[in-house]
Amino acid sequence: MENIPYKIYLTEDELPKAWYNLRSAMKTKPAPLLNPGTHEAMSAADLAPVFCDELIAQELDNDTPYFEIPQEIYDFYKMYRPSPLVRAYCLEKAMDTPAHIYYKFEGNNTSGSHKLNSAIAQAYYAKKQGLKGVTTETGAGQWGTALSMACSYFQLDCKVYMVKVSYEQKPFRREVMRVYGASVTPSPSDTTNVGRKILEAHPGTTGSLGCAISEAVEVAVSNPGYRYVLGSVLNQVLLHQSIIGLETEAALKKYDIVPDVIIGCAGGGSNLGGLIAPFMRDKILGKLNARIIAVEPASCPSFTRGVYAYDFCDTGMVCPLAKMYTLGSNFIPAPNHAGGLRYHGMSPVLSQLYDDGLMEAVSVPQTEVFKAAEAFARVEGILPAPESSHAIKVAMDEAAKCRETGEAKNIVFGLTGTGYFDLVAYEKFHNGLMDDYIPTDEELQASFDSLPKF
Ligand SMILES: *Cc1c(COP(=O)(O)O)cnc(C)c1O
Repeated sequence: MENIPYKIYLTEDELPKAWYNLRSAMKTKPAPLLNPGTHEAMSAADLAPVFCDELIAQELDNDTPYFEIPQEIYDFYKMYRPSPLVRAYCLEKAMDTPAHIYYKFEGNNTSGSHKLNSAIAQAYYAKKQGLKGVTTETGAGQWGTALSMACSYFQLDCKVYMVKVSYEQKPFRREVMRVYGASVTPSPSDTTNVGRKILEAHPGTTGSLGCAISEAVEVAVSNPGYRYVLGSVLNQVLLHQSIIGLETEAALKKYDIVPDVIIGCAGGGSNLGGLIAPFMRDKILGKLNARIIAVEPASCPSFTRGVYAYDFCDTGMVCPLAKMYTLGSNFIPAPNHAGGLRYHGMSPVLSQLYDDGLMEAVSVPQTEVFKAAEAFARVEGILPAPESSHAIKVAMDEAAKCRETGEAKNIVFGLTGTGYFDLVAYEKFHNGLMDDYIPTDEELQASFDSLPKF
C-alpha cells in the first residue's frame, strides 16, 4: 500500500499566500451584473453604495490571476487553516472499493463551515475602509455565524437578517451570533420598507433568503458607514474560497496524486467554486482531465432544471441582475434540511463553466443524502452537515461504480461543514418523517414566468 497518511496537512509556511481568480483563466467570462433599472452593466460607482470598495474591485476583475492575501487575514487564517485533506481509508474499506477517496474538511472552526474564509476577508476590507459595520442575511445561520465571528475580530458592528422560520426553529446558531455581538432580526421584519411591504402582501410568511437579502441591502444603503456583504454567489466570494482549492492542490501534489473526479455541493456555488479553482484552470488549459461535479438538492435544482438567464438576486428586486442558472427569484423550495442549498440561483462563474460543458451537475433526493451522511459518520468519525452530505452521496456513488469496474480512481470531495446544529434534521430522518418533495415542471414554469424580460 502506498504511504499516503490519513491526513495530509500543510505546514504554516505552505499556506497559500494569494487567492486565485479562476475568471482569469476562463475563455468565456461570466456575464456582468446589470443595473435592474437601466439594464446597463454595473460600474464600480453603481456598486459603491452597497458594497465595500476593494470587494467591488475584486468583483469586477476578470483578469488578475492572483490577489495577495493581506497579512491581517492571513494571521486569522492561521488560527484554523490549513484544513486537513483526509484520505477516507475507513470509508473505502467499508465500501470495499478500489477507489481512493479524499475529502477536504472545512468544519474545524466554531462557525462550522467554509463560510469563515470569505467572512474574514469581507470584514477586513470593511474595516480598512473605515466603515462602522456591515449588514447581511442568513438562512439557517452558517453565514451569519461566520460573519459575526469575523466582525467581532475586527470590532465591526454586524446586523444580521435571519429568515424567520430559522430564527424561530433554530435558536442555536442565532445565539452563537449573539455571543459574537451581532444583532439578529427575524425577516421579514417591520424595521425596513421592503420588509413591511412583504409582510403586508404575505401576512404570516416565514420568510425566505431573497427577502432577507432585500432587507439587509436596504439597511446598508440607508445607514451611513454601513455596507452589505454576501456569503456566496458573488465572484469575490469564490475568489476568497479559492483557498480551499489551493490547499487541496498543494496537499495532493505532495504525494503526486492527480484527481480523476472532483465533487462538491452547490448552493450559491462558493465552496465548489473555491475547491475547483486551480483544477478547473488546469482543465481549461488542457493539463487535467478530471470530471467536476456539482451536487444540488432535488428540491432546489438550479443547475439541473433551471434556466440560464438574467434574474433578480432577491425577492425585493433591489439587487443587481445576475446571469445565472436560476429557478426564478420567486421560487420557494419545499422545506429541506440543507438550508445552505436553498438559494434559487447559482454563481455566475459556475453557471458559465457549466454552460460551456466544463462541469457536470446532479441532483439528489434528501433521504438518500441522509443515508449517505450516516454511513459516512459511522466510519469516518465526522458528523457531516446536510449540505456537505450531498457531496458525500455522489462521492460514494462514484466509489461504488469503481467497485464494479475495478478502477482505482482518485475521488476528491469538499466536506464543507459539521452537522452539530442539524440534529433536528437527523431526528426527522431517523423517525421516517423526512420530506422528499420535488417541484413539478408546472411549479418551476410558474416561477420562470417571473424572470425579468428584456
Ligand atoms: C452555505 C453552505 C453550503 C453551500 O454554500 P455554497 O456557497 O454553495 O458553498 C454548503 N455547505 C455548508 C456547510 C454551508 O454552510
